[in-house]
Amino acid sequence: MTELKEHDAMVCRACGNEERASEGYPCTGCGTFLCVICNMKGITMCKACSAAAAPAAPPAAGQPS
Ligand SMILES: [Zn+2]
Ligand SMILES: [Zn+2]
Repeated sequence: MTELKEHDAMVCRACGNEERASEGYPCTGCGTFLCVICNMKGITMCKACSAAAAPAAPPAAGQPS
């Protein structure tokens, strides 16, 4: 077994923190790295995916154009 004691940190695509890749989770949308802290907060998608999943701009309330 190779024991990797390299710098295995990756930047979380949700919060931007650098966390250990081996403790992270993949984004459910694109599979990019999310840290375990975000996962514990219930964040399962990176910023890009959550932005794409959420409605970008809500329509003007009661003002159909
Ligand atoms: Zn994070
Ligand atoms: Zn993603």
